[in-house]
Amino acid sequence: MKDTFKHRGMRNKLAEVVAAKGIEDKAVLAAVKKIPRHLFMDSSFEDHAYQDKAFPIAAGQTISQPYTVAFQTEKLTVKSGDKVLEIGTGSGYQTAMLCELGVKVYSIERQLELFKKTKLFLTKLGYRPKRLIFGDGYKGLPDEAPFDGIIVTAGAPFVPKPLLSQLKVGGKLVIPVGDETQIMTVFTRTSSKSFEKEEYGEFRFVPLLEDKN
Ligand code: SAH
Repeated sequence: MKDTFKHRGMRNKLAEVVAAKGIEDKAVLAAVKKIPRHLFMDSSFEDHAYQDKAFPIAAGQTISQPYTVAFQTEKLTVKSGDKVLEIGTGSGYQTAMLCELGVKVYSIERQLELFKKTKLFLTKLGYRPKRLIFGDGYKGLPDEAPFDGIIVTAGAPFVPKPLLSQLKVGGKLVIPVGDETQIMTVFTRTSSKSFEKEEYGEFRFVPLLEDKN
């Protein structure tokens, strides 16, 4: 696991690209500069690690585009010490970004192979999410709720009710909603019974899959 001066140079450039696309949050940009994204990908794709693109990882899944990760994280508007639930651990890149922000991260992954691999890998890199869970993100994580923020990193055909109900008042759910392509949607819980909804542009994610059993 090598991280070189050259990699760091490429990350600084990547942060500039992401900023040029509209990301303003300083902590998010600092995290892009810091996280060794090339180590989150299979070595055959290493040359692509610092392009602003999504790439294949294990188990037919993808590591999200850096801009998308930055955009979703910015929309979550969390601060150090907040409790955040992530659905779709995948490569762990988004998890690492939340850890860089000082957030207490709980992250759920439904693919066993990825769950095991990423758990080991994040520990190796020195990231310490609160909990990595092998399970179904549609249900959220009721035993740890409520959360200051919930971020879904796979395309959801609909908004799972449990995720809305596990938000604190004032908390946000950032979720790409749709089938073929998704609309980035942000729900803010304004009271125990009410939510405000904002919609942003179109994105493309691998699907949030429902368990058959
Ligand atoms: N956050 C990841 C993105 C990975 S792609 C990153 O930064 O790399 C989306 C991930 O969501 C995949 O790993 C996929 O297996 C997972 N996923 C799909 N449906 C899920 C579900 N119902 N519960 C939990 N994870 C799910």
